[in-house]
Amino acid sequence: MTTTNTKPTTNERVALVTGGNRGLGLATARRLGREGVTVVIGARDETRARAAVLGLREAGVWASAVPLDVDDDASVTDAAERIRREHGRLDILVNNAGILPEATATDAVDPLDPDLFWRTFRTNVLGAVAVTAAVLPLLLESDRGRVVNVSSRMGSLSDQLDPASPYHSLVVPAYQSSKAALNGLTIALAKKLAGTTVKVNAVCPGWVQTDLGGPDNRAAAPTPADEAAEVVARAALMGEAGPSGSFFDADGPVPW
Ligand code: NAP
Repeated sequence: MTTTNTKPTTNERVALVTGGNRGLGLATARRLGREGVTVVIGARDETRARAAVLGLREAGVWASAVPLDVDDDASVTDAAERIRREHGRLDILVNNAGILPEATATDAVDPLDPDLFWRTFRTNVLGAVAVTAAVLPLLLESDRGRVVNVSSRMGSLSDQLDPASPYHSLVVPAYQSSKAALNGLTIALAKKLAGTTVKVNAVCPGWVQTDLGGPDNRAAAPTPADEAAEVVARAALMGEAGPSGSFFDADGPVPW
């Protein structure tokens, strides 16, 4: 797999974007790269990773890839060790890798299938926990560590309870409860890291033109991935005065 390109030694930030080989993760990598951030994409497929890195480099981004399956503890540990070895630092973690099997399944889905919940939580919640834990020592060494959990208003309990919310009628129990759990993690981790240089926030990118929502999603979703990446980048590049333990989208704070 393509690894690092040889950027001169600088003080610039290094970011890890999980699931960075396509969709919102790739757009976020491009956006952060435009700010001079050195981007490491975590990707579980070598061919897709290589293609993404080539595209990023053609766009002028200092990009490399690490093999990373967030469901696999050994892969997570190896990725963290490799980032320390090859870059010696990590300033930004974007927990972007996510799945929505309820939308992509080809057969009818039992909404209370425990295996569906297990797989969804494994990637969307436990994957984020595992990667965060593995790279936290590096983030704590940064003078401005940032963790961005790519969540969704679909995980907002307020939206799910508010009949006036456009999200109220959408019911995908495994995905929604996984994003609610990710939001809970965001709050708890921000509290645990209060007093350190690390800020932890959750963002909703909107309804984005990616493969996540199934075959018809790209045509139906209103927001291009490059536009959605703006809010992710805003959280990743947030200055010292910015919040920790908050949840926001392109328009501002989102109710939990
Ligand atoms: P996507 O196009 O389906 O991309 C998902 C990415 O996650 C892919 O790179 C995929 O890798 C990766 N991934 C999945 N499981 C993984 C694992 N176990 N280990 C490592 N990588 C894994 O979806 P997307 O829309 O860009 O989604 C990105 C994030 O945005 C997700 O957390 C999603 O919940 C969130 N989000 C999306 C929307 C939307 O409307 N699209 C709205 C709100 C929130 P492979 O290529 O190997 O499959």
